[in-house]
Amino acid sequence: MQGLCPKCNKNEGVNRREMADVEYVVMKNGRHAAKGRCAVCGGGMYKIVSAADVPGAAQA
Ligand SMILES: [Zn+2]
Repeated sequence: MQGLCPKCNKNEGVNRREMADVEYVVMKNGRHAAKGRCAVCGGGMYKIVSAADVPGAAQA
């Protein structure tokens, strides 16, 4: 999956990077997000996803 890397965005002006070590989390507001690491710079990445994109998540 691809996500936005704030670090690459800042340093190179490229904001879409492949995400490694993807982990799915639920935020306080009940929305789902994918958390991972930028495959290029290793920086933390975060992407809002819908529940349908989360493997094993209960459908709303
Ligand atoms: Zn990056």
